[in-house]
Formats: sequence, C-alpha cells, structure tokens
Amino acid sequence: MTEKVVKVRKKHLPSLERGFPLILKDAIIDENNVKEEGEIIRLVDEQNKFLGKGYYGKQNKGIGWVLSYEQNEQIDSAFFERKLKQALNKRKHFFDHTETTAFRVFNGEGDGIGGLTIDYFAGYYLINWYSKGIYAFQKAVIDALGKLVSWKAVYQKKRFATKGTYIDDDDFVAGERGIFPIIVKENSVHLAVDLNDGAMVGVFLDQREVRKTIKEAYAKGKTVLNTFSYTGVFSVFAALGGAKKTTSVDLAKRSLERTKEQFRINQLNVEAHDILVMDVFQYFKYARKKNLTFDLVILDPPSFARSKKMTFSAVQDYQNLLKEAISVTENEGVIVASTNSSAISMNKMKGFVEKAFKEMKTSYYIVEEFSLPEDFRTKKGFEESNYLKVLFIKKLASFLK
Ligand code: SAH
Repeated sequence: MTEKVVKVRKKHLPSLERGFPLILKDAIIDENNVKEEGEIIRLVDEQNKFLGKGYYGKQNKGIGWVLSYEQNEQIDSAFFERKLKQALNKRKHFFDHTETTAFRVFNGEGDGIGGLTIDYFAGYYLINWYSKGIYAFQKAVIDALGKLVSWKAVYQKKRFATKGTYIDDDDFVAGERGIFPIIVKENSVHLAVDLNDGAMVGVFLDQREVRKTIKEAYAKGKTVLNTFSYTGVFSVFAALGGAKKTTSVDLAKRSLERTKEQFRINQLNVEAHDILVMDVFQYFKYARKKNLTFDLVILDPPSFARSKKMTFSAVQDYQNLLKEAISVTENEGVIVASTNSSAISMNKMKGFVEKAFKEMKTSYYIVEEFSLPEDFRTKKGFEESNYLKVLFIKKLASFLK
C-alpha cells in the first residue's frame, strides 16, 4: 500500500517520540494531504526524518493512530496477525478459565492498534471498529483472527456514524449465527448477552473486578441501590453475594425485562427485588421523601446522556450525583462511584468526592480504588486509555451542623 507522507509539527515531536499513539489533527502540518480513511500515513519531522507510521481514521479524539515505529514494517494482514497473536498470547490464562468466559482479547492502543477492540463471549468474537479508517482493514483483521482462533461466530459494531456513535446494522459477520441471548459466565455468575441488538450487548466487561468485590465483600445482608443499572448486573452480583434486597433504577424501558432475565438465569427470585424504570434523580427525590436509605449505593452513569427532561454530563453533574447518593446512604454505608469519562481523572474524581461530602457536611474515607482490569491493556504514557475510575467510599456520621 502506498504511504502518504505527513509532516509533524515540532511542538508535537516530544510526545510522539515518547510513544503517544494518537495522531492529533493539530500535530500534523498538511492534513489536506490525507483524504481517505484507512490510508497509511508516514509521519516525518520537518527535516523528513522518519518518526512512525499509522493509519488515517477520524475519531472524536484524533485523526488516526500510530501503528509502527519501524520504517520497513508493512501494515498488511501479516501485521494484524502479529498484533492479534501477541494480544491472544497475553490472554492465554483467560481462555483456560472455565468460570469466566467473557473478556477482552484486544484492547486498542493498549495492544498496538488504536480504534479496534475485540471481546470474547464463550466462543463468539465481537469486534468494535471506532472509525471508518480502521474498518477499511476489516478483511485483514478478520482473516488474521481466523488464522489464530476458531470461532462460533464473529459480530461487529461500527461505532463511527457521527461523533463515534453506532451504526445500527445487522452485526453478524462470519461463522454461524448465534441464538441470542447466549449465556456467558463471569466468576461463575451467569450473564445474558446479545451481540446483535444495538450498540450495547448486556454487560460491560471492564467492571469485572468491581462486581466480584461487591459480591464477595460488600453485599452480604445489605440493602443495595444500583443506579443507571442497565441490565442490572451489579444487582445480580450483590444478590448472589447475599444482599438483603437490591433496587435497580434505569430510565430505559427495556432495562426492566433485561434485568429480570439476568436475575432469572442465576436462579434468583426476581420478586424479592425492586426494578424501576425511572430517572435516577427522580428516584433520589422519591427515596428522600419516603425516608429510604441504603447500605450500598452504586453509581455507574454514562459519560453523557440526554433524556426528555434533562441532560446528564459526568463532568458537570457527578458531584451533584454524589450528593444525592450521600443523602440516601446509611452511616457506615458504602458508595461505589464509577466513571468511564476520559475527561475525569482519578484526581478530579476524588475532588468531586471531597467537595460533595463537604457540602453534605459528612465525613468519609476511601476504602478501595479500581481501574481497568488486566485484559483491558492500556498504553503507558497515554493516560486517556486508562479511562475507568472506581472508588469505594465509606460514609461516616455527619459532622455537627
Ligand atoms: N451500570 C451499568 C451500565 C450503565 S449504562 C452496568 O454496570 O451494567 C448507562 C445506563 O444509564 C443506560 O442503561 C441508560 O438507560 C441509563 N441512564 C441514562 N440516564 C439516566 C437517568 N437520568 N436515569 C436513569 N438511568 C439513566
């Protein structure tokens, strides 16, 4: 494939040389030279010294990713095969587990190819394409994967309509179509997954450690409020961990059926738990009015969501969300505060916690911190790829008012 030569601005050389993998629009002098998504671009400095090569693919974050620092390395199917093989080798022990059958096998720039992720669900592979540019390599990637693994089927999500959202298509690509939901396992817990029903499949694999911790150490005998509960997977783990009762709250109508399903496939009595289709902020109001309090409150909102009545933005509204949570948490209770917003660093998150508790005149301490699990490999020196931040916060008694 021919390579388009593109000059990098001097200011951006140090970060590129340190291994910053994202190609920023600002960093290159002649963006107009590159036109076609999927084109290979050769990055040089103003003296034409070779710096690296990558592909052109517009995402909200940048206009492409560096793939190689070797002048002569070709970006061809052998390249994809090498990268996939390395990634699969690093997950060997995951494939050996019988009690966890869903995990990430390829994590974008953490495995050397930004804009591409691949998840494994009990024999099925799900590929996420984050730009038209990386999608241009679809055949090479799928051929490479086919050489390395045997699959029941491959599904895909094209996450590049506008602003990185998802193109709603038939997502089947290869193999034999699945009958969904399929049931996968995570630390022996059953999870219903549908790979061909919109952008989200029923579970977010990056919260595996958090779910396990809740089940094993925070749920027993507790009342649990799970907000932004989606298919209720946190509630299921809490219930299996011996929670006295869980309450799941999500705005999406479909969350009700899907949550019931997750309970049922784990032989839990759905009737013993509450599942509410409702705006969480409305729910907090209701809970205060009824003097409802909880021992464990889980906050796992999307980075951004728009409903009929309101817009939720994690950056703008997380502090307020924490205050709402504090108001319905028992003394000595725990708030699990999670965000996947790359605009919120761990420090910023802790700042929100500090301010929220201060405004609520309540003391706290942070009991545990989580970031991405091992299969979600991140790239050193590229903090943006380490997007998950989760805090377990113990609420202490209010200080004098
Ligand atoms: N915590 C979930 C994932 C959350 S996905 C899990 O671990 O599986 C985000 C969810 O937030 C979606 O299901 C969406 O319907 C819901 N949501 C967005 N805005 C909301 C709001 N204001 N009130 C309640 N739910 C909301």
